[in-house]
Amino acid sequence: MRLLLVEDDDHVAAALSAVLARHGFQVVHARSGEEALKALLPADKEPFGVVLLDLGLPDQDGYEVCGKIRKRSAIPVIMVTARSDVRSRIHGLNLGADDYVVKPYDTGELLARIHAVARRRTAGEDTGPTPLAALRIGQVHIELPTRRVSVDGQEVQLTRKEFDLLALLAQRPGVVFRREQIISEVWRTSWEGTGRTLEVHVASLRSKLRLPALVETVRGVGYRLVPPSG
Ligand code: CA
Repeated sequence: MRLLLVEDDDHVAAALSAVLARHGFQVVHARSGEEALKALLPADKEPFGVVLLDLGLPDQDGYEVCGKIRKRSAIPVIMVTARSDVRSRIHGLNLGADDYVVKPYDTGELLARIHAVARRRTAGEDTGPTPLAALRIGQVHIELPTRRVSVDGQEVQLTRKEFDLLALLAQRPGVVFRREQIISEVWRTSWEGTGRTLEVHVASLRSKLRLPALVETVRGVGYRLVPPSG
């Protein structure tokens, strides 16, 4: 698989490229946002399977680069950053990043995440067998085949995982889904690093839908969707 590594630190890039090459990736290294966007241009080459995007770049902000990539391509983007606060994660995921890895990361974890986003991309829009075409929970309307979500008739843009998470919880409103169950169904993995990612997605979902009480945290267990009573 071709992988675009956007990283201005040559030492980090060299070490990471070596590891990725050992795992069968064809790494193309870009040192700036501009180089990254240029590397994505040629249509004659095999498309990249994934972009690893460092947020601290010399010429433009990594968030900005992610937004530009998203405008022209649906390629999976994993943001790599030292900024670990939840707000910047949500910002990144809102811009269409597929995942978010915080430095210093474990190489095994990074590889697992790369494989996970690439696998989801090749699996396309398949979220498992679903007999229903649409779900309605109060003001929230979820169209499963088109993956569109609206609140009070206003369409809300969700990332793939936010949608999968919402669609999963919405299939059984009121029922508590265990964290492990959600992680395994939405992220198709059981590794522990996803725990934080789940929190971030729940927070992002609450804020995007502007319904903070819709997804309820059941402490120590997981989450459930609370159908509005009105
Ligand atoms: Ca950097």
